[in-house]
Amino acid sequence: MNSHDHVTVVGGGLAGTEAALSLSRSGLRVTLYEMRPETRTGAHRTGNLAELVCSNSLKSVDPETAHGLLKEELGAMGSFVLEAAMEARIPGGGALVVDRDRFSAALTSRVEADPNISIRRERVDRIPPDRPLILATGPLTAPELSRDLLSRIGSDRLSFYDAISPVVDALSLDLSKLFRGDRYGTPGEGDYLNVPLDEEAYRMLVGDLLHGERVPPHEGVEDRPEALRAFEACQPVESLADSGPETLAFGPMRPVGLVDPRTGRTPYAVVQLRAENREETAYNMVGFQTKLRYSEQDRIFRKLPGFSEAQFLRYGSLHRNTFLDAPRVLGPDLSLRALPGVYPTGQMVGVEGYTESIALGRLSALYLSPDPPATLPPPTTAVGALLRALVPSVYRPEGESPGPEEVAPFSPVNLHFGLFPPLPTRVRGGKRERRKVLVARARRDFASWWSACRDSLPPKETGHHPLSSERR
Ligand SMILES: Cc1cc2nc3c(=O)[nH]c(=O)nc-3n(C[C@H](O)[C@H](O)[C@H](O)COP(=O)(O)OP(=O)(O)OC[C@H]3O[C@@H](n4cnc5c(N)ncnc54)[C@H](O)[C@@H]3O)c2cc1C
Repeated sequence: MNSHDHVTVVGGGLAGTEAALSLSRSGLRVTLYEMRPETRTGAHRTGNLAELVCSNSLKSVDPETAHGLLKEELGAMGSFVLEAAMEARIPGGGALVVDRDRFSAALTSRVEADPNISIRRERVDRIPPDRPLILATGPLTAPELSRDLLSRIGSDRLSFYDAISPVVDALSLDLSKLFRGDRYGTPGEGDYLNVPLDEEAYRMLVGDLLHGERVPPHEGVEDRPEALRAFEACQPVESLADSGPETLAFGPMRPVGLVDPRTGRTPYAVVQLRAENREETAYNMVGFQTKLRYSEQDRIFRKLPGFSEAQFLRYGSLHRNTFLDAPRVLGPDLSLRALPGVYPTGQMVGVEGYTESIALGRLSALYLSPDPPATLPPPTTAVGALLRALVPSVYRPEGESPGPEEVAPFSPVNLHFGLFPPLPTRVRGGKRERRKVLVARARRDFASWWSACRDSLPPKETGHHPLSSERR
């Protein structure tokens, strides 16, 4: 039972807007700070709340996809932002594509008309003393506030640039072409999977990286000094290839200390794959952060040994992003360990993408409502899978040692099926059938968690289902 009657929210983007409206619905008063239009971010164009900074697609509504599932759960939880997106929907095939101006204008009017919410159009430069405080300032948090946050949580706990390597579905790899082994460890044993390349394959990869089509930088967003500093430390794989034909073989693809147990030899170069989670359902291509177009990543990386059928759960990218080292800074109540009562949410907490950020905003409001749920959502659900990636230690069963996701450096997550715990038994019929069973399990587990929440929540907080009119 929470005793506060007021919550301060900093940042009126997707997450902050969702949180403010949800908190108001549960009877709380809210002060919402938003610095636009006075201070701009470099990506936002208007003064509207919940502005979409780039694409106007909130991805798939197909209930057999991870994103469709997330929307279903958000719908059941009464997400205001999802509801506004459904109302502003324009044709876009299986994706939820919106008229961006209608969408953000409708949410702005809704917040402005809400008697429980007072909006302050000001930039916040220091963490306010108010508690509870939701921080939802997003990937382009104003530098003054970032600096203050850094000084309070530790300089290595907030990043300004996001270098993402592709993540591949473990089941789509041909493991017979790869070998297990850690550097200088026992060949055939260890945590890493290694993709061995002979000299010819290495040269082909370097040539492809040099000529592959790259994504141009976002104007005005990637030229900030802090972004550039981080950029030097984390170069895209194709930039390393630009700097010389052997750079990769002496850099992230160096084979030293790795012996292929099948040949007894050290390959010319390797791509190392690191498990994304304890269950090893997904692997990260270590050091392969890239600005190649997604279609080029598909084309080029599928030429790697064992990758011909590779399913990329997430493509590589590099962009400006302010995000926290969630597994190390968040406490079990999802507030900052160093600043109890301060709840970071949205993209800055370590998720990526519009819908993921909305989901985090909704969850923050739920747990700050007068009667919060007694438990976190199960990791088998879409919202639970996202939360588990942020606070893996909270989800770890007692007595179990930390998995790779708790030990490896944190990288922001977007939702994909690789985040869901694997099924306990094998499913015949391939990927499609497996997904169906995963989805059915998620629906069942979400329904039982949410109905337990509903028992403790006032009726106005239990939500409705904007996706209920979708064809299933
Ligand atoms: C250039 C770019 C392109 C992107 N493209 C896509 C895409 O195509 N698809 C996708 O799914 N995701 C995309 N993203 C990610 C997407 O923007 C985020 O996932 C989403 O907007 C995050 O929601 P949020 O509420 O956490 O942050 P935001 O929506 O960014 O909201 C944060 C709000 O906080 C305000 N703010 C910041 N600092 C302060 C301060 N000190 N005081 C007061 N207010 C402050 C900002 O003005 C902003 O309104 C992109 C991100 C960037 C930077």
